[in-house]
Amino acid sequence: MRLTNRAVEVNRKPMTFLESLYVWNIAKGMGITLRHLFKKKVTIQYPEQKRPFSKVFRGLHILNRDEEGRERCTACGLCAVACPAEAITMEAAERKPGEEHLYREEKYAAKYEINMLRCIFCGLCEEACPKDAIYLTQTFAPANYAREGFIYKKEDLLIPHPIHEPEAYQKALGNIEERKIQKGKTTA
Ligand code: SF4
Ligand code: SF4
Repeated sequence: MRLTNRAVEVNRKPMTFLESLYVWNIAKGMGITLRHLFKKKVTIQYPEQKRPFSKVFRGLHILNRDEEGRERCTACGLCAVACPAEAITMEAAERKPGEEHLYREEKYAAKYEINMLRCIFCGLCEEACPKDAIYLTQTFAPANYAREGFIYKKEDLLIPHPIHEPEAYQKALGNIEERKIQKGKTTA
């Protein structure tokens, strides 16, 4: 009994001599290959060539600094609370006298980690941050052989210093300013 009307009878007719040479089928296959040879290629020579990302692409995070190079993060924990993947952990510390040039606020993140194996790059941490301290850039998280390599520490996430390393800072910033304008987000 047939359950659907989609079943097709298998043709068990013996092949003719010409069919057994497969010439026609090989010619058909070669025809498809030749047709694609002259079409516009959809592949690119990665990593030498890179595709432009969408303006809303969200990649690897950075911990931002202010224009004087001070860390913006105040370890308030809002990003960790907002994160649906529970990928963010941190430890807060009090700023000591003489450290005003390092940390913008009286409290700062002594430890800050993101588990990139958990992260779904949703951008909610960026949305939740009241201090303009965390952003998702247009960089991929590089491949790694060990799970530990995907736990990004504060040293990995912190953006280069804008005064000491202006070029690296600008490069790391990427299109953040453009995205801030798109979202109507203002600096705290
Ligand atoms: S992008 Fe989303 S999943 Fe990743 S750390 Fe931020 S809030 Fe969590
Ligand atoms: S990144 Fe922003 S939201 Fe997260 S702890 Fe730092 S200041 Fe708070």
